[in-house]
Amino acid sequence: MKNRSSENTIKIIKTITEMKEVIKKYKKMNLSIALVPTMGYLHKGHLSLIEKAKENNDVVVVSIFVNPTQFGENEDYGVYPRNLERDSCLSEEAGADYVFKPSVEEIYPKGYNTYVKVEKITDKLCGASRPGHFRGVTTIVNKLFNIIEPNRAYFGLKDAQQVLVIMKMVEDLNLSTEIIPCPIIREKDGLAMSSRNVNLTKNERQIALVLSKSLFEAKDKVKAGERDLDKIVSNIKANIHNEPEITIDYVEAVNMLNLERIKLLEGKVLIAIAVKIAKVRLIDNIILEGN
Ligand code: AMP
Repeated sequence: MKNRSSENTIKIIKTITEMKEVIKKYKKMNLSIALVPTMGYLHKGHLSLIEKAKENNDVVVVSIFVNPTQFGENEDYGVYPRNLERDSCLSEEAGADYVFKPSVEEIYPKGYNTYVKVEKITDKLCGASRPGHFRGVTTIVNKLFNIIEPNRAYFGLKDAQQVLVIMKMVEDLNLSTEIIPCPIIREKDGLAMSSRNVNLTKNERQIALVLSKSLFEAKDKVKAGERDLDKIVSNIKANIHNEPEITIDYVEAVNMLNLERIKLLEGKVLIAIAVKIAKVRLIDNIILEGN
């Protein structure tokens, strides 16, 4: 990481007014703007989105906002890791031009009362166990799109349901931003990178490997000809049940468009997992393709 005091070119913007002024300037110059929305505590997964954004756009804005409206009452909003100094350095190294880091009051001032809700696909998977979560996500993403007016916005398939929900919102509300889905970045041992991984103990982190291992095993089974998705899901569940520290939220094989459960592999299917290890909620997934 660069020494921030010796070289500091990235600009951190904290107010909506200033962010809009900066954007106006670039729009006048006809430059393309990319947005990478994050909750901060950046890792290589986030950085891959920033790098891709930089490749294809003139100006890259990384937003860092731990969005309270997407957390349930008993969730980890309070202990979600935060470190602006570190995130700014990493964003700059990956090629970002601006960090937009508004306060909660800036985004949701007293009396705030407007929310955006995509229906149906938000009732499934994470939406079923985190009621209100996607309403918080679509509200903040919509607000960020209005403030930053990005030509393109970059999202990771680590949160595959989130990508689908945002694409649906863009389609249904005729928004002009192009959504660019990006692949999951993993640690060398397979663990999907996540800001929440720092809240795992060494032992819990080791236990968490069962998620990616089970997904890769599923991929191998499909390669070997398996098409019965119930069998694949049962196998993943059995692997996870071998780890008594893990509680399963869901393991499902679903259609990539509507998230309806499917039993037989044809075309593309999303195998998605959500679990809790101690107090840490982890998700992972893989997209499999039959022929
Ligand atoms: P978050 O800060 O967790 O809200 O994530 C911000 C963005 O980074 C979302 O679009 C995530 O899907 C994406 N992201 C998080 N982890 C990964 C990962 N391991 N690989 C790729 N993208 C990721």
